Amino acid sequence: MGHPVTCSAGKPGAPLSVDAARLRAEAAAVTVAETDVLPLDVALDRGLAAVPTALCALPPFDNSAMDGYALDSATLRGKGPWSLTVADRVAAGDTRGSPLVPGCAARIFTGAPVPDGADCVVMQEAVRRQDDRITIDTRPASGTNIRRRGEDVAEGAACLAAGVALTPSRLALLAGCGLSEAVVRRRVRIAILSTGDELVEPGRMLSHGQIYNSNRVMLRALLAASWAEVTDLGILPDDPASIRSAIRDAACAHDVVISSGGVSAGEEDHILDALRAENAALDVLKVAIRPGKPLTVGRVAGALFFGLPGNPYAAAITFSQIVRPALRRVAGLREVPDTWIPAVADFSYVRRTGRREYVPVTWSARDGLGRPLLERLGQGASASLHPIACARGVAVLPPELREILPGMSLSVEPL
Ligand code: AMP
Ligand code: MG
Repeated sequence: MGHPVTCSAGKPGAPLSVDAARLRAEAAAVTVAETDVLPLDVALDRGLAAVPTALCALPPFDNSAMDGYALDSATLRGKGPWSLTVADRVAAGDTRGSPLVPGCAARIFTGAPVPDGADCVVMQEAVRRQDDRITIDTRPASGTNIRRRGEDVAEGAACLAAGVALTPSRLALLAGCGLSEAVVRRRVRIAILSTGDELVEPGRMLSHGQIYNSNRVMLRALLAASWAEVTDLGILPDDPASIRSAIRDAACAHDVVISSGGVSAGEEDHILDALRAENAALDVLKVAIRPGKPLTVGRVAGALFFGLPGNPYAAAITFSQIVRPALRRVAGLREVPDTWIPAVADFSYVRRTGRREYVPVTWSARDGLGRPLLERLGQGASASLHPIACARGVAVLPPELREILPGMSLSVEPL
């Protein structure tokens, strides 16, 4: 299992493409085996672990799709108009189960059970009513305005596939089929830590040479999913022994460990040495991505490990492009979201080729085909926070594209 990468000190070797790195990270991800049985009210976005079967048909009985009159179209003899007596009234929630009086109509409302003997519902707008008589001019087809028992889901049928996320509509479907609980994957236990002697938490005094820790709160927010349970290990100093023991302890108690900073090849970058000392299997060391090249992915003490770059924009991009898809695997979420939409550049940019680049963009107009006209924000610095904070999305620039000109087709990932 996995794809160990051999390498010596630093990070030699060609970088992996973003797609190859993501595939390796996904391949290294092991879905949590344990499950929880949860009431639907608290199951939003969790990964379904077992196929739920419908306890009842949906809808459970033939019912009216309209406010109108139920009747038996076979009793309308000859040419219209036809006149019928209204012999009954059936509202939603009526549990009497009274059959249609032969040759008559029943007043009926949306969601009410269609009386036995009626084969259609004529909507009230197509009826003239006087006292207890109605007149209709047009012959209704059999079955008109009747929602058939089980036409949405048959009783006992599989309502959803395992591995899907429980979205609001899917929760509604399960509820409609009579289910009050779902079997989901247990939450993914994720430890996060920031490395860097320069880091200080906001709210404290900053000395010269220090910066505030942006990545901690960003990561916590990125991981604010119902399927994640985050342990925040705070800031670690750039000290090899502390980093090594923190990674080891976190890996033993969590499914996933995510660090930020310390993954480049500098003398103060200790993540890789710590991973090697702990006999980690290294799946990804370098990615042809801008920003974010030094992203590290590996497995250590049974946990999946992600070493994000320290620069906040680089951490954000590598998280969304590579880490999140792998975390979804761990959470048992098998659907791959399709996040790119077609767009058009409304900016010029001459760039260095070789890496796929993610550029913060915004837009206030669309072209004739409805594609957003992208305006670039910022200058592409991987440490910058303001452009991505103001962006409506990130444009995805292919590795080999040297020059972007207004009018060029691009993809954008809305935020
Ligand atoms: P590193 O990957 O540790 O070399 O860090 C790269 C750059 O990101 C440096 O300028 C760090 O000061 C900065 N950095 C590292 N961690 C954080 C953090 N948690 N929040 C904001 N900036 C950071
Ligand atoms: Mg550092």
